[in-house]
Amino acid sequence: MAPLFSDAGRRRLDDIVRPGMLCVFDFDGTLAPIVTQPDEVRLPPNVLQRLIELSGRTQIAILTGRSVVDIAPRLEFKVDYLVGNHGLEGVPGWQARSDAYAAMCRNWKDTLTMALTDPQYGPGIFLEDKHYSLSVHYRQARDQVEAEARLKTLLAGLQPPARIVAGKCVFSLMPQDGADKGSALEELMRISGASGAIYVGDDVTDEDVFRLNRDDLLSVRVEHASDSNAEFFVHGHQEIEQLLDELIERLRKHQGNASSRSE
Ligand SMILES: [Mg+2]
Repeated sequence: MAPLFSDAGRRRLDDIVRPGMLCVFDFDGTLAPIVTQPDEVRLPPNVLQRLIELSGRTQIAILTGRSVVDIAPRLEFKVDYLVGNHGLEGVPGWQARSDAYAAMCRNWKDTLTMALTDPQYGPGIFLEDKHYSLSVHYRQARDQVEAEARLKTLLAGLQPPARIVAGKCVFSLMPQDGADKGSALEELMRISGASGAIYVGDDVTDEDVFRLNRDDLLSVRVEHASDSNAEFFVHGHQEIEQLLDELIERLRKHQGNASSRSE
């Protein structure tokens, strides 16, 4: 994993950035900084302004863990593809699959709603129904360590078995052989006919993209992590503006100075 803003990273940017390329971004922790209240997450004005500029120059996709209804109002710029629920929702042509995921989630939700009435789980555990996936939050549990252990056992017994991704005081439940961010991104690349793509993300499910390891995909993690499969990293959310500037600058060069943008 090398810094994106290095000779190697800039050479890779030079190779990938072309008009018609696909720029794909995770949202929380990537385009928008993490805040204590996830509901209050907003795009910083300096990031939004660059995304508006970028969207006028090439194709943009958002690939987020949030549901589409949750993310849509937070994006005040044009996106070509909006994929939610870690790839389970919003990929064009995959609606039938998504419907099957939704049915599976309803079953898990019914089972868990019943099971969590057992006093051993205590108060402070709640289910977030994202329609195509389910999140089990335990941040407000009296004893988080104990809640985590008990929930692990409970979730491992679900039928059909769920893919369980542990986050910060939350377990995300997804279909085991369902779409993930990696397969969703590959489908978007196919549909869009993009010559290449960049993907930027910061978290566990972004690794499904990072491990694709394709020559036509440049992967960037927000913050270095020694165990990540991403090709490059930026030091933190504060470098996103620079990353967007590097994309815009290269596209502008390719597209010539005859564009409508006023200097
Ligand atoms: Mg994220």
